[in-house]
Amino acid sequence: MSGFNFDVITLFPKAFELINNLGVITKALDKNLIDVNLHDLREYGEGSYRQVDDKPYGGGAGMVLKPEPIYKAYESIRKSPKSKTLLMTPQGKVLKQKDLARWSTLDQIIIICGQYEGFDERIRCLADEEISIGDYVLSGGEIPAISIINGLTRLLPGTLGDPDSLVDESHNSSLLEYPQYTRPLTFKDMKVPDILVSGNHEEIKSWRRKKSFERTLERRSDLISNENYKKSPQSKRIIKENNQFMKFRIGNGYDIHRLVEDRDLIIGGVKLHHPENLGLDGHSDADVLSHSIMDALLGALSLGDIGKYFPPSDEKWKNADSLFLLSKVIDLIRQDGWEINNIDSVLVAERPKIMPHIKLMKKNISEILNIDENLIGIKATTNEKLGPEGREEGISCHSVVLLEKK
Ligand code: SAH
Repeated sequence: MSGFNFDVITLFPKAFELINNLGVITKALDKNLIDVNLHDLREYGEGSYRQVDDKPYGGGAGMVLKPEPIYKAYESIRKSPKSKTLLMTPQGKVLKQKDLARWSTLDQIIIICGQYEGFDERIRCLADEEISIGDYVLSGGEIPAISIINGLTRLLPGTLGDPDSLVDESHNSSLLEYPQYTRPLTFKDMKVPDILVSGNHEEIKSWRRKKSFERTLERRSDLISNENYKKSPQSKRIIKENNQFMKFRIGNGYDIHRLVEDRDLIIGGVKLHHPENLGLDGHSDADVLSHSIMDALLGALSLGDIGKYFPPSDEKWKNADSLFLLSKVIDLIRQDGWEINNIDSVLVAERPKIMPHIKLMKKNISEILNIDENLIGIKATTNEKLGPEGREEGISCHSVVLLEKK
């Protein structure tokens, strides 16, 4: 008696000849680690034509597998204590590596393969699980069954030459595998990364972890956003270690300055005129729009706020041009490889009218940030005479920015 039994109910047993020429799986058969028992559905067919299919009730295209032959075939199979029955259907749960791992502790898998337009609905109750191998439709369940036999067999002890090769591979930890190289060192001008030939095993391990994460993020970020995965301590470590691979960061900024006499009123680098000759008070030029954008930029990268970089206690920034400060902040952001995706700001001012100046504000800011004007949204609203802005004690501004890693 061999280790693991696959019992397959199929109308096309010949399709399974493939497993006799499939490397690791063939070896597992030779070593009696697995046994594949094929149950030819035709042998359980009805009448002299051994009929296995029929037209669907209610009409419609194609033929459907009848229930009786499948039941008969199923009942002929000796079940072992640790057995599960899988029904191949594109309507099933999509097969995952963790399913194969789960089943590898059993000692028998019975697989029912559909054909034609499918099978009579009453076959479903034979199955412990309904499995699809992907969101597409094949003509029969044989290729899905071979996929399961193949994927499961390589997880069984004694099948792979080096069991360690299972540890790091794709989907094992919800991550895809890192890039692999073998000799030659340089092939068609493509060189193996230096780190892999450095001999430093700790660094190689860390490089591989990073690449694995980066690759998963690029190709299958859905695997990382999986809630269970996020909760695992392993993923927390990886996400922390690889923060630099985050592609987007969002930032939020807010600023308010008092309206006082004997000060200029500068917003977005534009000098405005207040009907009462009021201007904004502050250490620098008190440009609330530029300030809130700077705070949003710094906030997006968790770098603190503008007070940290341009402290009011520093004489250097007295009456400073805020557009100049903004140019310093964007340098800091770009140093780390980030780029602005877009900015959206709201100015809250009772008077003067902001709207006529928005075009120029956008122009000033886009020039300083060296980005297209279309990426900047500036809106203005009054506060309906409510609050400090409404009473014209001050003017405030809210901004959000989205940064993208380049
Ligand atoms: N009309 C059916 C599909 C029939 S395809 C439907 O819409 O659900 C014929 C048979 O091929 C199925 O019964 C099933 O056994 C197999 N099959 C086709 N695509 C499959 C997939 N993605 N995964 C698993 N089995 C599949």
